[in-house]
Amino acid sequence: MTLFQEIFLVQAGVFRITFTIMKEFELIKYIRKTFEKNNRHNGLLVPIGDDCSVILPPKGMAQATTIDSLVEGNHFSSKYFTPREIGRKALRVNLSDLASMGARPPYYAWLVFALPPSFPDAAIKGILAGVKEDCERYGIILAGGNITGSAEFQIHLALSGWVQPRKMLTRGGAQAGDRIFVTGTIGASTLAYQQFKAGQSPYRWLLKRWANPEPKLEIGRFLAENRIATACIDVSDGIFQDLGHIIKDSGTGAELYWEKLPIFPRLKKLKPTPQMIGFGEDYELLFTVNPRNIKKLKPLADQITEIGHITKSGFRVYGADGEEINATNVGFSHLA
Ligand SMILES: [Mg+2]
Repeated sequence: MTLFQEIFLVQAGVFRITFTIMKEFELIKYIRKTFEKNNRHNGLLVPIGDDCSVILPPKGMAQATTIDSLVEGNHFSSKYFTPREIGRKALRVNLSDLASMGARPPYYAWLVFALPPSFPDAAIKGILAGVKEDCERYGIILAGGNITGSAEFQIHLALSGWVQPRKMLTRGGAQAGDRIFVTGTIGASTLAYQQFKAGQSPYRWLLKRWANPEPKLEIGRFLAENRIATACIDVSDGIFQDLGHIIKDSGTGAELYWEKLPIFPRLKKLKPTPQMIGFGEDYELLFTVNPRNIKKLKPLADQITEIGHITKSGFRVYGADGEEINATNVGFSHLA
């Protein structure tokens, strides 16, 4: 019996539920019906159901596209996530990538389900309810997808949005002297994930963050459309590793100050190490700003923290006493 089946047996109580998966065509019909209203969007010329979806781009905009996979036991756990949270997370990790480019709506999604034969219908419906909920919350149109059989349950989701070619944010524009900022707090979902991987039950207050990332779409757009950030990335593989991507693509170095890192307050009390906070899944934005544009960050003052600056080369993290802290080789590897 899978974890989903156990959960739904408990939730179903005295009601009998069928564990037979909806047949492929029935499921497609169900998805079309669920997202019917959402499909009547102007930009979507050909919606779900044809061989391709066809989208009319807004004038002068370029399409930004990203794809991410959610695999049971790696990006979520059906023991700790509700089906709705799984559906929402599939959208949110991709939205976080669009946020890091400064992309604006309408956003279009393509959803792929890989389903084991015994996967319960109620779980699929729960996941789709979560997808629908966030489609409405963020202005996403489900444009198409695919369903395939699989030994293990997986969701793959592609998402696109729109950027102005001259204003989009990339990882490659940082220059020596730029200041480094991060949104929100870091470390909470990282630690939840590590506890889960170590076979422990994640603390509830950490779990909430792991299951419900909040993509920083408005901040990404603000930074792009006002030409404030020189480089930007979302923190999905850990703050140190993701800063590593910026300095590599920009051909620069960086210095960070440990005491300035906005570590999740309750986590700070545990005196975390770089390994504890730098593993990934934060989904905050990490970005660089030329000093002459710092004043433009005023509207974001209570949502961002300055944590260091870009240098010509090398990567160093300094502690409160000025001693260097080793934060190299810290972060998530997709193939580890
Ligand atoms: Mg990313």
